[in-house]
Amino acid sequence: MSFERKKILVLGAGYAGLQMVSDLQKKLSFQDADITLINKNEYHYESTWLHETAAGTMEWQDGVYPINKVIDAQKVVFVPAEVTAINKDEQTVETTHGNFDYDILVVALGFESETFGIDGMADHAHSIVNPQTAVKAYREIEENIANYKRSNDQKDLSILVGGAGFTGIEYLGELVESVPELCEKYGVDYNKVNITCVEAAPKMLPMFPENLVQYAMKFLEDRGVKFMVNTPIVAANEDGFVVEVNDEKQQLEANSVIWTAGVRGSKLMDETFEGVKRGRLVVEPDLTAKGYDNIYVIGDVAAVMNGEGENARPYPTTAQIAMQLGEHTAKNIELTLKGEKKEPFVFSDKGTVCSLGSNDGIGLVLGREIKGKKAAFMKRVVDTRAVFKIGGPLLAYSKGKMF
Ligand code: NAD
Repeated sequence: MSFERKKILVLGAGYAGLQMVSDLQKKLSFQDADITLINKNEYHYESTWLHETAAGTMEWQDGVYPINKVIDAQKVVFVPAEVTAINKDEQTVETTHGNFDYDILVVALGFESETFGIDGMADHAHSIVNPQTAVKAYREIEENIANYKRSNDQKDLSILVGGAGFTGIEYLGELVESVPELCEKYGVDYNKVNITCVEAAPKMLPMFPENLVQYAMKFLEDRGVKFMVNTPIVAANEDGFVVEVNDEKQQLEANSVIWTAGVRGSKLMDETFEGVKRGRLVVEPDLTAKGYDNIYVIGDVAAVMNGEGENARPYPTTAQIAMQLGEHTAKNIELTLKGEKKEPFVFSDKGTVCSLGSNDGIGLVLGREIKGKKAAFMKRVVDTRAVFKIGGPLLAYSKGKMF
């Protein structure tokens, strides 16, 4: 097989970007292409494990691995740098480590926190978007619990979690494991702790059937979590959240305040493409940007539609779909280099599992409902599989959750 040697530039080493490079380097030989991967950090982090770090149930180092462990240095040049601009028409990318040109570009720049412009949120609440923010969130909780003995201030024992989406629920599942341990460490009665989750919608986790949602709520309520549903957060301040109840504003007080109610694609997307919403661009069926068949947009910066026409909706951004987008892009690049036609992406939904701490959870896997220990086991399989698919058996052995 002979290919025309092309410059392939990949931006971002999250699930989508790193999966794509991991696959592409197996498909191509050194003579076929010049592959460069640019990523802000020298490591990849498992963004779906961050809630564990933010609750103190996992050290941040356990959820990251060096990118060099995955790439084949004979075929891929890795540049640790931050992307600052993408010039589509000049086919160049600007970074903190110089400029790069490309024939084929893969934009996989990942997600950021989205505060929807809520007053004070960015300044007064922690988000869980990378290892640093996760560590900060946990430190806040630990410091406040430690401080309670001196302060006797109930706010030190009050934790507010904004949003009961996937991240919020999985985070609460970890908190009800770690906070009792922290209380024991600092000699505080766990019964005095208030963990309140505030959710704007009337119902949580709409992707799960009602009985599984009830199971998750009961699990968390039995361990001390209070839910306020149908309660939008309208502001955050140094005392906690301001919420709206029956059209009246109410102050909820806490010293530990965590916002888990939204993510968006990288802000660089808005500066680069037209029609970007919440940092996500609707991509063509072959995962390229409209009008640019040499630019692939994958992962959390892509809105991949589940069909055509006005009823079509974007698939939710998950690690599962991100990795499939990465695999598909590697395949399409290989086809392009061989002079063949690219193929449209088809999502294969294997299901989803929401953990409730380390030993419980709920899930829909291959159309079957699961809960309890089975779901927790399945979650460990899913987490380990993600490492295995990108990094192979040795990495899965050292970083996975099965061994
Ligand atoms: P999300 O958008 O799914 O959930 C955010 C929640 O916050 C929603 O329930 C929303 O109603 C609520 N909310 C929004 N604004 C609010 C406000 N002002 N006041 C109160 N509540 C408010 O966000 P997420 O949980 O971060 O998930 C992001 C994506 O990542 C989703 O697609 C999710 O499926 C995926 N994810 C998947 C997994 C998994 O598969 N295990 C884990 C985490 C995240």
